[in-house]
Amino acid sequence: MGRRYRAGRGFAIVPAMRQRARDGGAAGRTGPGHDHDLCIADALEAAARVCAARGQRLTPIRRRVLELVWQSHSPIGAYEIMRRLGQGRPAAPPTVYRALDFLVAQHLVHRINSRNAFIGCAYPERQHDACFLLCENCGSADELSDAALLRALAEVADSHGFAVTQQTVELRGRCRQCRDGSRA
Ligand SMILES: [Zn+2]
Ligand SMILES: [Zn+2]
Ligand SMILES: [Zn+2]
Repeated sequence: MGRRYRAGRGFAIVPAMRQRARDGGAAGRTGPGHDHDLCIADALEAAARVCAARGQRLTPIRRRVLELVWQSHSPIGAYEIMRRLGQGRPAAPPTVYRALDFLVAQHLVHRINSRNAFIGCAYPERQHDACFLLCENCGSADELSDAALLRALAEVADSHGFAVTQQTVELRGRCRQCRDGSRA
């Protein structure tokens, strides 16, 4: 992991967060044993930077919800966020939904429709449509940064006279670790 995978003509799959030298090892970026605290720290740092650049406020509650979304590389449901935020007693839904709406609008978080859940964006610095590889075994979700793929879909839609307003591609299957058997 941490390198570019090429599968066919001009189709580059870039592992979600940027590669870090500290990552190293066979486990890879999101593999078992990676230092997830670094992922969370990077995500919060990037969010602060992005919000400042856009003149948006990353309030404490928004930051805390983002931190909870980033607890793992698997999508998390709104109710689970409420539960963790309230430390046992669920936090008020409107508070959490407003924070999530903000984070989604700022492309810091993506909504995974098929799971009715949310996941931190691996590419928060630029506005983009998202494509996810969703593992049915371990629940992980890897975001692909593939402008060519998403552009191709938009062009196909356009050729049908269809104007796309929102596009999230979700591919389901088994991730590399689960196929290797390194994740049970
Ligand atoms: Zn991580
Ligand atoms: Zn994204
Ligand atoms: Zn998996």
